[in-house]
Amino acid sequence: MKFTPARPPIHGETLDSLAARLAEAGEPAYRARQVLEWLYKKRATSWEQMTNLSRPLRGWLADTFDLEPSALVLNRQSEDVTDKLLLELRDRSLIETVIIRAPQEGVGLDHSRKTICISTQVGCAMGCRFCASGLAGLKRDLSAGEIVHQLIQVCRREDARTPRAHAELASFDNIVVMGMGEPLHNYDSLLRALTIVNAEWGLGFGARRITISTSGLVPQIRRLAEEPIGFRLALSLHGATNAVREQIMPVNRRWPLEELLPAVRLFSEKHGRMVTLEFILIEGINDSLDQAAKLRELAADLHAHVNLIPYNAVEGLPWKRPSLTRQQKFLDLLLERGLSVTLRREKGHDINAACGQLRLQTEKKREASA
Ligand code: SAH
Ligand code: SF4
Repeated sequence: MKFTPARPPIHGETLDSLAARLAEAGEPAYRARQVLEWLYKKRATSWEQMTNLSRPLRGWLADTFDLEPSALVLNRQSEDVTDKLLLELRDRSLIETVIIRAPQEGVGLDHSRKTICISTQVGCAMGCRFCASGLAGLKRDLSAGEIVHQLIQVCRREDARTPRAHAELASFDNIVVMGMGEPLHNYDSLLRALTIVNAEWGLGFGARRITISTSGLVPQIRRLAEEPIGFRLALSLHGATNAVREQIMPVNRRWPLEELLPAVRLFSEKHGRMVTLEFILIEGINDSLDQAAKLRELAADLHAHVNLIPYNAVEGLPWKRPSLTRQQKFLDLLLERGLSVTLRREKGHDINAACGQLRLQTEKKREASA
């Protein structure tokens, strides 16, 4: 499922692909670097600004590429901690990009850890039962340029917020691919986008600070393990046995744990980094101590970090988060074995709270007014 716009976003071009396009227009290869510098170092918002390019070349670029594949339509901030950007694409599809500022103890918000959460698809095909993003299925994949442009929007938002103009992407600590969509279901565009984000001629953001979260597509995890750039991997596990996992994640029927876990181990070994196992705690579904004990074995075996996330209720879905006592018991059992575990409790900091919900509300409003 692809959307083919009249002009592709320029943010989807790599140094080589742009040089090849420019050659068609009779331009020397070094122009590609000049254009990319305008995009990523100087963050030009119009072709006219690119003053070291000739007028005819600027005209050719304007006719060939889209400079603004997304527009900010809504910005919702909660307690100065999460900042959700609702973006509208050229075909009116909506996606979400979220900035999370987690204050560090004793230093206040100015020195907070800043994470950006980006989307890779409009909707999602995986149909996890607890998730707002997947409720209406997959509408389409994002192009590489649409993925990259989310980060341009984030930098602009940051400029508007802070007096220090021209915020650099490097001022953020992490990028997590945990917004709407299953990133590995849109593999080629994802990899192309992250290559641009990582490249010295692109946004220059370190691969070790970029985490791809997946619901568990085994062939793509194996493929990712072979990639030269070492991104981090997070697996949405959410069930420590097939029986529990397949109750809430249909993908588990296609790729059960006995196939999934060896693929994750391969990734971890190839890149020499700990993988994160994400485990959302849902009352009465996966929060038993038996699940905790099984998760403990599994994480120890993979040398993985475990991230426990109390479930965020989604309007229209029956699931709930367990009580604090129950969350604590689950955590204590994991800690007994000296595992690396985190349990996120603070409201608003939660990346996952963002997952598709703002878009869903806006889509509903659109339907109501249509
Ligand atoms: N599709 C990918 C990445 C996007 S979802 C994946 O599934 O990993 C990012 C994370 O948010 C996943 O771990 C997902 O299971 C979790 N999530 C989805 N809905 C949630 C909710 N309502 N509360 C808490 N976590 C949720
Ligand atoms: Fe898709 Fe991830 Fe939501 Fe599952 S949790 S439906 S894979 S976005």
